[in-house]
Amino acid sequence: MTAVSAPERTCIGCRRKRGRAELVRLTNEAGRVVPAHAGAPGRSAYLCPEQACLEAADKRRAFARAFRGPVVLDPAVHRAVARHTSDERR
Ligand SMILES: [Zn+2]
Repeated sequence: MTAVSAPERTCIGCRRKRGRAELVRLTNEAGRVVPAHAGAPGRSAYLCPEQACLEAADKRRAFARAFRGPVVLDPAVHRAVARHTSDERR
């Protein structure tokens, strides 16, 4: 048994593994992809808080794959990514 490490998740945009806390968690709410609050139930996907990853995931239809069906990206996801990015720069 190894020591407990930070949980890692894979970004659906760039496929890199990062600590869960570094990623934006997304969930499917009635066909819309929205940022999930901590502990929200259901299937979720993770994305780096970077515009490039958001665009890559969108182009590769990674959202539909992650949520197993057609979904639309809620503008709140863009805001969550932008907010995360500006927090880091502060
Ligand atoms: Zn990424």
